[in-house]
Amino acid sequence: MALRPPAEDDLVLERYRLQRLIGRGGAGTVWVADDERLSRPVAVKLLHPQPRVPQAAARLTREARTLAQLRHPGLVTLLDFGFTADNAPVMVMEYLEGVSLKELADAHAFSVSEVAAVLDQALDAIHACHEQGVIHRDLKPANVLVARASGALCVKIIDFGIVALAADPGATALTVSGEVFGSLRFMPPEQWRQSEIGPYTDLYALGCLAYHLLLGEPFIRELSPVRVYAAHMEQERPRPGLDRKGGAVAPGFLDVLVRACDPHWPNRYPDAPSMRAALRPFVGEVPTPPLPVQTGKRSVERPISVSDMLNARTAVAEVVAIDGRNAPVDAGVDAGELDPGATLLSAPPSPTDVGLPADLQTRLMAAVTDRPVNPNGGSAVVAPGDARAVLGSGPIAAGSGPFPAGSGPLPAGSGPLRAGSGPRPAGSGPI
Ligand code: ATP
Repeated sequence: MALRPPAEDDLVLERYRLQRLIGRGGAGTVWVADDERLSRPVAVKLLHPQPRVPQAAARLTREARTLAQLRHPGLVTLLDFGFTADNAPVMVMEYLEGVSLKELADAHAFSVSEVAAVLDQALDAIHACHEQGVIHRDLKPANVLVARASGALCVKIIDFGIVALAADPGATALTVSGEVFGSLRFMPPEQWRQSEIGPYTDLYALGCLAYHLLLGEPFIRELSPVRVYAAHMEQERPRPGLDRKGGAVAPGFLDVLVRACDPHWPNRYPDAPSMRAALRPFVGEVPTPPLPVQTGKRSVERPISVSDMLNARTAVAEVVAIDGRNAPVDAGVDAGELDPGATLLSAPPSPTDVGLPADLQTRLMAAVTDRPVNPNGGSAVVAPGDARAVLGSGPIAAGSGPFPAGSGPLPAGSGPLRAGSGPRPAGSGPI
């Protein structure tokens, strides 16, 4: 019998009454709920019951364990963790009344001093993670909230779903199929290559995040992941003369961002405190969101379309083609996150969401989820264009999604990229 998705008024872990859906990710949903024992709002993260995302339960468990070790005012606090009757993990966090930096950057023109203030707090928080051997790996404006806590506005980092743990190399089992983890426009070259992850990986992402606040959009605006990757590899970074309020941007401030976003990690700041120290002259106040600080009603990402799936699948294969020589990866595609600014995980999308005929659903799911297995064991590989091959030009308008059709350099039917050794385990680098 199919498990039904969670709904308003459900009681979870015999204690938390779901009230409103406030976020939807690739593997699950986040709800504001009432803690009926303590009469306070909490945030509850649940997994999509179907289709089950491989490794999602293990990742959520690991996210909770990671958060349980961390304590800092700039990191979301874990309150509870448990399992539903059908053994799905549930994570309960403090409810953050606020907006993400993504939403804030859309609504507010940041000055340099505001960007520096946000960055300053985020660096302080991420340093607490690094001290515990935790690399976040998915810092981006959507994963950093400006929230009200004890009357003051502060910066809070969320979403520890794809952390790398120095102390837990066994956790690399969660990346056994070699998925590309991360959010393309914020992901440094070493993370694309699945190597050499360290604190500087998060500092790079924070540099990209600061550019996003300063410019009002990511500094990398390419759509094709291949071009996004190429842009990360370039040495040049933007040096705008004015911020969005028309104020002059101090060259010294840009120097900090440029160094943080150096494609070669040894050239970056060695740790968060040294980047913070360089920023200090520019730090002002965290901006008050011009929108009323939300009370749980937050936009939920749009449903995914089939053309999104096809485009993403093809696009990810392009990246594999570029980097496959150095680090073969089987790039899984996250159902809910196909914007290049979004996180890539490995969740197959659900064609039922888009109302396709049953036979097409079956074929599409097979195309998106079935991966040829490396005969030598180890990693699986992506067959570029396989979803398109299954579906042909039938009733689906492929190519209307976020990645332009035909942007990929791979000829259709060029087959599996390469069977080879598995991915380099995350965490094997110099954490
Ligand atoms: P993704 O697949 O994008 O990584 P996810 O399933 O891991 O998503 P999160 O990114 O942790 O989920 O949360 C999804 C959204 O839910 C966030 O963007 C945020 O808007 C909201 N959210 C998450 N945690 C909280 C919290 N503690 N308080 C308030 N809102 C939250």
